Amino acid sequence: MRIILMGPPGAGKGTQGERLVEELKIPHISTGDMFRRAMTEGTQLGKKAREYMEKGELVPDEVTIGIVKERLLADDCQTGFMLDGFPRTVPQADALDKLLNEINQELDAVIYIRMPEEDLISRMTGRRVCRQCGATYHSVFAPPKAAGVCDKCQGEVYQREDDKIDTVENRLKVYLKNTQPLIDFYKEKGLLKEIDGNQDMEMVFKDIGRSLGRKW
Ligand code: ADP
Ligand code: ADP
Ligand code: ZN
Repeated sequence: MRIILMGPPGAGKGTQGERLVEELKIPHISTGDMFRRAMTEGTQLGKKAREYMEKGELVPDEVTIGIVKERLLADDCQTGFMLDGFPRTVPQADALDKLLNEINQELDAVIYIRMPEEDLISRMTGRRVCRQCGATYHSVFAPPKAAGVCDKCQGEVYQREDDKIDTVENRLKVYLKNTQPLIDFYKEKGLLKEIDGNQDMEMVFKDIGRSLGRKW
């Protein structure tokens, strides 16, 4: 199965994505996670990405498209994948189309997690993530069992720099301008599955399953 997870920052893509890839047994390709990993490792890519991420701006298309292309050509992606946080611009969506055409692959679905704008701020500012395994928590809605410690790997649970209040509003603005237009792009292709993200995590997961013709 080849799917894209779309939605504004804080909608629940990472949270749902973690469970989806477990059920569907496909690789979880999150461009945000790839950039954060590169930042931790201090690579050239990480240094470049940091300049943009810290301001809540998008990393330039040519950089982002390059890393996704390379990832999608890897062996483990040949029978399916889940893209989370990509594409985020029209040129990225066009590049993805072109690549999939070239390698004779087709998307099965684009899952769009819808959320009211006013609830996204608290989702983002309360988000906490594990520095080691990337697991997602929330200070109020889904705290780890022991404060600051990941349930899954005992790694350090921290707040992303770009989840602080100064940056989140810009991220929303950037989303509305650059990424929102892609919803119509995929609707016209008949691929869009719209999901109400403003319900508890379990219900969101069930609705996604239903939209894919699965019951879980
Ligand atoms: P969220 O899940 O809150 O939307 P992400 O982890 O997906 O956040 O992205 C964090 C940041 O990484 C973005 O604000 C942007 O700077 C960068 N980024 C991630 N994916 C892309 C992309 N497809 N194109 C450009 N920049 C990206
Ligand atoms: P995205 O990847 O779309 O930016 P995340 O999955 O990281 O979003 O979720 C953002 C924050 O909201 C996280 O702290 C997460 O724990 C929390 N969250 C996700 N889904 C829900 C939900 N259905 N109800 C309450 N909190 C949620
Ligand atoms: Zn962890």
